[in-house]
Amino acid sequence: MSDKLTPEQRHKCMSHIRAKDTKPEVVVRKWLWAEGFRYRLYVKGLPGSPDIVMKKYKTVIFINGCFWHGHNLVYRGENEDVVDSKCCRIPKTRTDFWIQKITRNMQRDYVNVMRYKRAGWHVLTVWECQLKGREQQLQTLMALSHKINSIILDSYRLPKRYDFEPEEEMAMVAEESFDYGKK
Ligand SMILES: [Zn+2]
Repeated sequence: MSDKLTPEQRHKCMSHIRAKDTKPEVVVRKWLWAEGFRYRLYVKGLPGSPDIVMKKYKTVIFINGCFWHGHNLVYRGENEDVVDSKCCRIPKTRTDFWIQKITRNMQRDYVNVMRYKRAGWHVLTVWECQLKGREQQLQTLMALSHKINSIILDSYRLPKRYDFEPEEEMAMVAEESFDYGKK
């Protein structure tokens, strides 16, 4: 299979994936593989056990279930109202238990993301709800490819300090020509 897929091929590829296995992690993995990205699964010792690891580009991908990870859940702290969202509905029974459980997961996720960021890693999160419906799924996956590609491109860029050199050169040229004009 070639790396570049036409939209039609992509569509075919997607329907094939969906027909075979609709588990969100599997959908994302198969997509990335077909797009030519290489990754590892279950890398030990990384915070939060990410679903997909691209060590070379210091990138991890989490595929989050909306309920367990409290997607769009608004939580302002203890004794405050929790506003649940379309994709994370807090059950009406044992409400306190669920709120505690889910907000604890959210806090843990947040701490993990911070740990990666401090270490200079990229964290990409795909939400379960973003993979629902064929069109939305395709858009989510294409956006994911796009993000990974920009991370890869950035990793090839020269270090920041080189950005200033052309300007210094320009200043020197300008000064010289000024002197030259005076003579
Ligand atoms: Zn969601």
